[in-house]
Amino acid sequence: MFSNEIAMDEAARAIAPGTVARMVDAGGEALACATFNPHSLITARVLDDDPEAAFDAPEITARISAALALRERLYDSPFYRLVHAEADRLPGLVVDRHGDVVVVQANTAGMECCLPEVLAALAQVLGPVGVVLRCDASVRKLEGLESYVRQKGAVPSGPIEVIEGGVRFRADPTGGQKTGWYYDQRDNRGFVAGLARGLDVLDVYSHAGGFGLRALAGGAERAVLIDSSDAALELARIAAEANGFAGRASFVHAEAFRELERRGVAGERWGLVVADPPSFVKSRKDLGSGARGYRKLARLAAALVAPGGFLAIASCSYHVDTALFAEQVRRGLGDAERSGRILRSAGAAPDHPVHPALPESAYLKCLVLQLD
Ligand code: SAH
Repeated sequence: MFSNEIAMDEAARAIAPGTVARMVDAGGEALACATFNPHSLITARVLDDDPEAAFDAPEITARISAALALRERLYDSPFYRLVHAEADRLPGLVVDRHGDVVVVQANTAGMECCLPEVLAALAQVLGPVGVVLRCDASVRKLEGLESYVRQKGAVPSGPIEVIEGGVRFRADPTGGQKTGWYYDQRDNRGFVAGLARGLDVLDVYSHAGGFGLRALAGGAERAVLIDSSDAALELARIAAEANGFAGRASFVHAEAFRELERRGVAGERWGLVVADPPSFVKSRKDLGSGARGYRKLARLAAALVAPGGFLAIASCSYHVDTALFAEQVRRGLGDAERSGRILRSAGAAPDHPVHPALPESAYLKCLVLQLD
């Protein structure tokens, strides 16, 4: 519920951020119970349609248990997003599980207030060896929350192992990006790996090697990983070594657009190009320039694909919907004078479920095409 939908009288404004509140409509009829933050544009986040429902330690434990049961049904090994906010009935809470270590992000005042119960519930249902509190996401500012990173238990000091598709990756949950690993692309990486046999792969915005190293596991001839983060490339390098891919992988520290342009001018052609950039549209006002960014990325990446080769291109911008993204990719292909066919149009893996009332929270789009 947004602030402009709520009668923000003095009493409402005085409610402490994160308080669990009973929401009623103008006629006094009960609507729901919700966490309330008078300082946030998203003022109330529904916890339960029953306004009298409890949101206490046993309830939080029950919700985390249910989230765990779903992931255990979906996956054989303990590497996944364990809690995905509203869709798991825990608005504002993200938990990624990297084996024995879990990374917790509390992104709202409501969840910040519940952190003691959340940590107790995780200890009870999962018993992780170490917990990293990555309460440093920029969205916390919108909730008036400060930024911090804290550890509990025994969190290994170096990179930890994340196993996906049989590949042993390395993640840095404490100092790395977000929670250390982007689980959302798991199924898209699997699809791309299935195309990769015998191909030369250019993995642009590689981070710790998710697409590139899975492509090598799928039989790619070689992979070149490009990222502007030395720390991410170092994780990829260690993982390549650990999987016996070192001779087939190389790592380039570069700005993606410049590097794509340079390689295009040099006339390079690749069997498979992956472009999985950070969000180009962080707020609605950047929609125009961000959309043009995706079009340009599609043009530059498509130009590097050999005839008959493949392009995987993604957007994690929540403000860019599937249709707009597909349109920008189509235009970019046109700019590069390339034709082809879409083989896959997909979102995030099912450990990132979507609340039916929040279709806009399905932020990830990934298109895989074959080009002529
Ligand atoms: N494909 C990755 C996730 C990519 S996240 C995976 O499968 O895990 C986006 C990555 O883009 C980050 O690693 C970030 O360091 C990198 N990045 C951000 N801006 C960049 C730029 N201008 N040029 C190159 N890399 C960039």
